[in-house]
Amino acid sequence: MYKFIVNTGPNKEVHRTVDTIGECNINLISTNNRLDTDKDYTVLFPTEYDGCEHCYEEKHWK
Ligand SMILES: [Zn+2]
Repeated sequence: MYKFIVNTGPNKEVHRTVDTIGECNINLISTNNRLDTDKDYTVLFPTEYDGCEHCYEEKHWK
C-alpha cells in the first residue's frame, strides 16, 4: 500500500492512505485524477497541493 492518495485534478489534494475516512470521498476521485504514491506532493509542490482537512490536517491550508 502506498502512503498517499493524491487527487491530481482541479482540487490538488493529498490524503494519507492509512488515515483516510469517509469524508475524504476517496471513492469520488476519478481514476484519471488518482495517483497512489509514496511521494508527498505537499512537499514536492507545496504551493499547489493541499493536505486533506480530514486526514492530513497539518498540511491543510486552502
Ligand atoms: Zn483525506
